[in-house]
Amino acid sequence: MKRSNRKTVLMKLLMLVLVSGMIACTQTKKEPMDKKMKMHAPIPQAAFGPTPSKKGYHVEEIGSGLYWVTEGVYQVMFLTTGEGVIVVDAPPNIGKNILAAIKETTDEPITHVIYSHAHADHLAAASMYPKDAIYIAHEATATRLSQDTPFPYGQFVGGGPVPPPTVTFDDTYTLVVGNQILELAYNGPAHIPGNLFIYAPKQKVLMVIDVIFPGWTPFKWLAVAETVPAFVAAHDWILSYEFETLISGHVGRLGTRKDVEVQKEYILDIQTNAAKAMQIVDFNAIAKKVGYSNIWLLFDTYLNAVDRKCAEMTEKKWIGKLAAVDVFTLSHCEKMVESLRID
Ligand SMILES: [Zn+2]
Repeated sequence: MKRSNRKTVLMKLLMLVLVSGMIACTQTKKEPMDKKMKMHAPIPQAAFGPTPSKKGYHVEEIGSGLYWVTEGVYQVMFLTTGEGVIVVDAPPNIGKNILAAIKETTDEPITHVIYSHAHADHLAAASMYPKDAIYIAHEATATRLSQDTPFPYGQFVGGGPVPPPTVTFDDTYTLVVGNQILELAYNGPAHIPGNLFIYAPKQKVLMVIDVIFPGWTPFKWLAVAETVPAFVAAHDWILSYEFETLISGHVGRLGTRKDVEVQKEYILDIQTNAAKAMQIVDFNAIAKKVGYSNIWLLFDTYLNAVDRKCAEMTEKKWIGKLAAVDVFTLSHCEKMVESLRID
């Protein structure tokens, strides 16, 4: 067996052991899991979207040939143009159901594919699209997709390598196909370098992925934003568009301007509370207890205390207003505290 083959077989075995272990855990420890669920704040009704049909997905026209598809966790957009379909992203979690959703809507072939950003959980099923389609992305996305990684791209999210972009741009790009227009823009690293703002002026629909989470607290660590100040500023970048509907890439429902305003208030609260916590928590008092001999233990104890103080102050106001605030606010505080200290 070749060394690389042996490595792949070992990886697959390891995955199998992990997955079967997880299944065993959920089966034998059902009760503790239920108890854990009960310990967390209930999900507000406003966080839920349409229930996916028995087919496993929900597809709906937002307006004038612009559709969104979700399986309840991820979201994609596609447009019929009269000359071919434009589709944005390919999360493996929805996978071939995107093709099914398009097929039940139109006979037009897929001619254009847009990559919102380089993260595999949103792209790694793109090899299912036609090879001769035009693939459009920001230059930074193309660069990231071309880089060597220790493991194959998309492997851990159930997908695989994707077609490299055939059209790239640096700041703005207007895509006109048939009767549809999409204005693509790069306004800064709202989430990661190269993440696009995709605006449909006719339908007043804006698609920005992994920044806003309608009805929910963002995914862990400010949705793994690479540049915290840009993530914070991105709320205003989004509000500067004349959109009525936001396709945010995650959770089961569409977003509104109000959702963006609410999340902005929550994030600014985290920023304020992180700063307050740094003033309240007494570093010298902690150093007296922990000592200076293990400096990493000292900093870990201090920062944990700051993060917890920030989370405590934020959760008090926000539990019940956004879903899962008690799950991820502490991680947002960790990320914000680090950013305030060094950015
Ligand atoms: Zn992402």
